[in-house]
Amino acid sequence: MTAKIISGKQVAARIKESLKNEVGLLKSKGILPGLAVVIVGSDPASRIYVNSKKKACEEIGIYSEEYALSEETTQEELLRLVRTLNEKKDVHGILVQLPLPNHLNEKEVINTINPDKDVDAFHPINVGKIMLGEPDYLPCTPAGVMELIKESGIDIAGKECVVVGRSNIVGKPQAMLLLQQHGTVTICHSRTKNLKEVCKRADILVVAVGKPQIITGDMIKPGAVVIDVGMNRLENRKLVGDVEFDSAVNVAGAITPVPGGVGPMTIAMLMKNTVKAAQIQLLSK
Ligand code: NDP
Repeated sequence: MTAKIISGKQVAARIKESLKNEVGLLKSKGILPGLAVVIVGSDPASRIYVNSKKKACEEIGIYSEEYALSEETTQEELLRLVRTLNEKKDVHGILVQLPLPNHLNEKEVINTINPDKDVDAFHPINVGKIMLGEPDYLPCTPAGVMELIKESGIDIAGKECVVVGRSNIVGKPQAMLLLQQHGTVTICHSRTKNLKEVCKRADILVVAVGKPQIITGDMIKPGAVVIDVGMNRLENRKLVGDVEFDSAVNVAGAITPVPGGVGPMTIAMLMKNTVKAAQIQLLSK
């Protein structure tokens, strides 16, 4: 039997549709949610991500503005822009597209964003709130993964959840969200011994490594829910995940494709956070 394919594209479309209504409601109260997107340099992948985010804003009716800075931008110039955006009344969310060129200090930039406008949820205050289980904003990719797990129909409580990857952007917050839903969570990384055995225990397996097809069908428990966060561009330009889809689909109970899985969800959750930012700032007026 082959796995149910969880379409992130469809779930994201549903979420964006309901956000349109919320934006309409905010507009009727005189508030137009606004997102500022900052991109530094000319990394082609970053450009694609920024364009998709702007397109999603248009679809939903969110106002967006883009600041495309040159590769040579200094730290001080970038910080000055962030501080200006922090004060700008028509901007409710600020997104600085990562990675930044090497000469810039990402941590300092993130720490300068007003936590109320930090729709990526990367600021230490927002990370702390996630740890405490009291988030204003959920980190976009892990929150998108949670929606896809929900879509699979599995109840997380008490299940063996394995997260492969421990980055601050995906792996660590992912583990925290699964824990908050009462999963029994294991986090794997590059020093994990017996990756195969640990993965094979998982009822829910989330893979965020960045290595093409590192997880194969023989590492998956029959019937498991498999969420593939990885996005890897092969030499032939093909986009593949971290999971070898063709072998995994015959073992898993449900699985996300790449593309069309987690990617569209990340953007939908960014839109959700931007709408929430406008709501939070409306209440704090
Ligand atoms: P990072 O490079 O920051 O982290 C990768 C993690 O994988 C690290 O914790 C690393 O371990 C671990 N790892 C590396 N090799 C192995 C291995 N052989 N076995 C087990 N673990 C290993 O990546 P990100 O978390 O930022 O992203 C991961 C992937 O997800 C990438 O492909 C990225 O493009 C994709 N991504 C997709 C998004 C989407 O919207 N679809 C959004 C964000 C990311 P260690 O800590 O020990 O080095």
